[in-house]
Amino acid sequence: MISLSALPRICVALGCADVAQLRRLALDACESGEDFLEIRLDMLLRPESGVAVIERLLRRYPETVVLATCRRTANGGQFKGPVQQELEILDAAVSAGAAVVDVEIETAEAAPERLELFRGRTLLLLSYHNFEHTPPLARVLQRLERIPADLYKVATMGLKQSDNLRVLELLAKRRRIPLVAMVMGEVGLPSRILGPSRQSVFTFGSPETAPARKSAARIVGDPTAPGQISASVLRSRYQAHRKDSSAKVYGVIASPVGHSLSPVLHNRAFQARRVDAVYLPFLVEPPKLGDFFKVAEQLPVTGFSVTIPHKQRVIRHLETTDSLAKRIGAVNTVYRRKGKLYGTNTDVLGVTAPLEKRIPLRKASVLVAGNGGAARGAIFSLLDKGAAVTLTGRNPQRVAALARACGVEMIERSKAAAGHYDVLVNTTPLGMAPKLSESFFSDRIPADLVFDMVYNPLETQLLRKAKAAGRETIPGIEMFVEQAAAQFEIWTGEKAPRTIMRNAVAEALGA
Ligand code: NAP
Repeated sequence: MISLSALPRICVALGCADVAQLRRLALDACESGEDFLEIRLDMLLRPESGVAVIERLLRRYPETVVLATCRRTANGGQFKGPVQQELEILDAAVSAGAAVVDVEIETAEAAPERLELFRGRTLLLLSYHNFEHTPPLARVLQRLERIPADLYKVATMGLKQSDNLRVLELLAKRRRIPLVAMVMGEVGLPSRILGPSRQSVFTFGSPETAPARKSAARIVGDPTAPGQISASVLRSRYQAHRKDSSAKVYGVIASPVGHSLSPVLHNRAFQARRVDAVYLPFLVEPPKLGDFFKVAEQLPVTGFSVTIPHKQRVIRHLETTDSLAKRIGAVNTVYRRKGKLYGTNTDVLGVTAPLEKRIPLRKASVLVAGNGGAARGAIFSLLDKGAAVTLTGRNPQRVAALARACGVEMIERSKAAAGHYDVLVNTTPLGMAPKLSESFFSDRIPADLVFDMVYNPLETQLLRKAKAAGRETIPGIEMFVEQAAAQFEIWTGEKAPRTIMRNAVAEALGA
């Protein structure tokens, strides 16, 4: 029987209806080096047919650790049979070589004597699931512990970031009890990543996702639980297999957060510079911003990026914010000094640094297209450098309101198109994937140097037109990398690896 300490830290959860597909998924996972698989027998059309999959897999890959699960529908799984049959299938799975079996607490409570079936033959994992919320966890653990087992699992639904904190605290406080604990849903990603470093015996990941797959013939496996991400991303991007909790925690707060490329870029930078830190995506819905600050204090979070929709509202939660960020009214970077949290805005550098590499901004005439948050930041940072800014956009009232607030000239879109400026800064999302053919200026390009904030695709329609007209161009990725590099330098005091950061983003964009 395998010992608890020999269990790998990341378990790839495999589940699908078709047995041939399950076999393929399991083989693919082993071929790509995974050594711990959960086989969700309950998700098969005929759960008992999965036993042969385990047997054959272990014959080919005897070092693989298999966790067998046949969760009943009433307990959040897909097995429709009675408790008796669930236990029979798990018994067959153990005979086939499963080193761990997952028995839900409800099944265990219904037939505690039947658990003797497993003792001494396999590791018995007793699991508690709550797909609605994260209830008081001490009580959950008390309920689980009434039935002796080799390890326990607690998986609850996350509604807010502090649910992660409670689960991580449970792990830290109950070190003597072997526990696997995580928060489900996108909110719960921090707990899935940090779990093993906080004493969770392991964490679950999904099989490889489509884009990273090398061969089109391979089958793509879906996550078997809400919020699961791929095992390879858990390992390579987040180093979730780490056992020690020394890494400082950074992250980004946003809603939505799934599309953010910041975790790709910052984790790559930390790894390249050997900074002992991890950067997490924190899904924070607007009414839950205050709740996130509990996590920031208690986890603790050493620094974080702030993006839509929190750039303004975050200010009231901070000790102080620097004067330019205050004037812009937006913070994109929070850092900690002597325990307190401060705000600044590195988007400002993201705008001015790429421009200043090409042109002195003092007295430069700059046309800014768009009147949203990015435009506001760009205008203040350009004014700070002594540029003469003119604002244009599609809606004259909104353009006029921002122009007034920043004290700059405004101009109608058609007149701007006929004019000429040293620099054009596009702050509208026009041209962004998937609407690749859009461009704020469709004919003439009214500037010598064109800066497009859109970074997906790397070269937008506007930039292509500008290049064709012989103009110099700056792609949005330069801003994205520059604002992130400034954050990295504030947080770590080290020079940011800009090329590595840029390559990480370009790679993530498939460029
Ligand atoms: P925002 O607050 O939503 O503002 C968007 C602006 O674009 C508004 O002025 C809006 O005009 C205008 N707009 C939207 N659709 C338009 C259309 N079809 N035609 C003309 N104008 C249109 O967004 P934001 O935060 O300022 O961000 C704007 C863009 O900058 C986004 O694409 C974002 O990804 C990019 N960005 C890039 C970086 C980077 O690091 N590269 C950083 C920040 C932002 P109305 O007011 O009339 O709706």
